[in-house]
Amino acid sequence: MNLRKKISFLSFILLPITLNYFAPVLIVQGSFERTFTIMHIIYGLMFLIAILFGGIWCSYICPFGALQELIPDTTRLKRKLPNLKWLTGGIFLALICAPLIVKGFQETSLFYHMVDTKVSVSSFRDLVRYYMITIPIILITLVLGKRTWCRYICPMYIFNYLGIKIGSFLKLPSFKIAYKSEKCTHCKSCTKSCLMGLDVEEMVKNNKWDMNECIKCGECINACKNKVLNMEFHNR
Ligand code: SF4
Ligand code: SF4
Repeated sequence: MNLRKKISFLSFILLPITLNYFAPVLIVQGSFERTFTIMHIIYGLMFLIAILFGGIWCSYICPFGALQELIPDTTRLKRKLPNLKWLTGGIFLALICAPLIVKGFQETSLFYHMVDTKVSVSSFRDLVRYYMITIPIILITLVLGKRTWCRYICPMYIFNYLGIKIGSFLKLPSFKIAYKSEKCTHCKSCTKSCLMGLDVEEMVKNNKWDMNECIKCGECINACKNKVLNMEFHNR
């Protein structure tokens, strides 16, 4: 198991402790109650990481990403689905920012809803909520394929996207997948391995990388026997 998988699976194992630290509903509730929470720090961190490292949060840190990777990819459904993450992400961002723009923060409660224990799942009700969040993600992955949640639905993606775009606009150096297309034999092993269902071989052939969707997991690099692909830190 490579380092990325070890880190992301650890993140998943810790989910009963950390669930509330990532919970989209709680950050929205905190904003409406004008309360600065640890979720505001974590989502801010996700945005900052995306500026320099692209979508690496999704492949290394997000426990829901690791959860989807634990599920065997048995589906034969290869059809593209409507991309809802712009809609979910737009609504999510508006719900977080609008109350703050209008009224700002009034108080700080970092361990919002976890004041006593700092642990997310500390009661039977929390456990039910834990399964209400994880079971739909498992079912969606089983029925629709690997990382369907990340590819088409996840509202948190908007923070990655904004970070990537701002890094690119400011021309800041960032991690990228570099490639030597002249070495490519078009075997498509990279495409088959891509966690985000990207046509990596086509991107190499056309010299056009999908910076927005690639989560820098490195699975395509590992799959390529011809050493076409590599992870590098680049100036833009
Ligand atoms: S795995 Fe390597 S050689 Fe095969 S198509 Fe992808 S980049 Fe080309
Ligand atoms: S293109 Fe490569 S690094 Fe990017 S998501 Fe696909 S497998 Fe991961």
